[in-house]
Amino acid sequence: MELDGFDGKVALVSGGARGIGAEIAGRLSALGAKVAIGDIVEGGTRDLLHVQLDVSSEASVVEGVRQVADELGPPTILVLNAGIFPIEPIEHMTLTSWQRTIDVNLTGNFLLARQVLPFMRNEGYGRLVSLGSSAGVTGGSGDKAAYAASKAGLMALTKAIASDYAKFGVVANTIAPSLINTEMVGGISHLADSIPVGRLGEPEDIADLVAFLCSSHCGFITGATIDINGGYLIR
Ligand code: NAD
Repeated sequence: MELDGFDGKVALVSGGARGIGAEIAGRLSALGAKVAIGDIVEGGTRDLLHVQLDVSSEASVVEGVRQVADELGPPTILVLNAGIFPIEPIEHMTLTSWQRTIDVNLTGNFLLARQVLPFMRNEGYGRLVSLGSSAGVTGGSGDKAAYAASKAGLMALTKAIASDYAKFGVVANTIAPSLINTEMVGGISHLADSIPVGRLGEPEDIADLVAFLCSSHCGFITGATIDINGGYLIR
């Protein structure tokens, strides 16, 4: 199936400097979108627009989205991908660490969506995909409490957007991966044995799904949370 709906469209991928976000950004560009990467660090595909932003900073997000709109045009594809993954048992977690996780993984996505949704509403078209997590579904385990809570919040935020913006031609969905082979989960290759399909996920697996959810073919899927984990949750 050839995916349509990218020619002339502007896409913003947060956290696109490396890992899953870099793969998604490259894929959307290959499909014909004009792609901007919004990341706190440099990196990713060289020929894409790089906007340095910290999703947890309101001023930085406002300025970054303005820059994307000025240089590429109004963004109507938004991939909320930037995230951090602290591993700390609840009793040892500082308030600062808890707050930073919520600021980046939840509030940051609210700030980005709030800036981009008006463009989608004005264009009468939008595709929003957020990167949730299996941990947001299961709660993870005790040492991922802040992460799991932030991802559950993001998944709910995405449903709220789906509900409010369907009438404007905007669909919004979350994907819930686990165990994708990136720096974020470095050193866990031994866990491949616990995945029914027998391997870790690769960023390409995620990009395939996100590309479909960002395409014109996805007009009747909205408010969904789609597991992508090689069967990890059905063990
Ligand atoms: P990664 O650590 O390789 O990449 C994360 C990117 O986000 C980096 O480029 C980083 O610079 C950027 N980032 C971090 N804080 C930021 C901030 N404040 N502002 C802007 N950019 C910021 O991680 P990844 O594995 O590619 O994960 C991408 C997304 O997928 C994350 O939201 C993660 O929670 C989610 N996810 C990953 C896995 C996995 O197994 N790798 C599983 C479930 C969900």
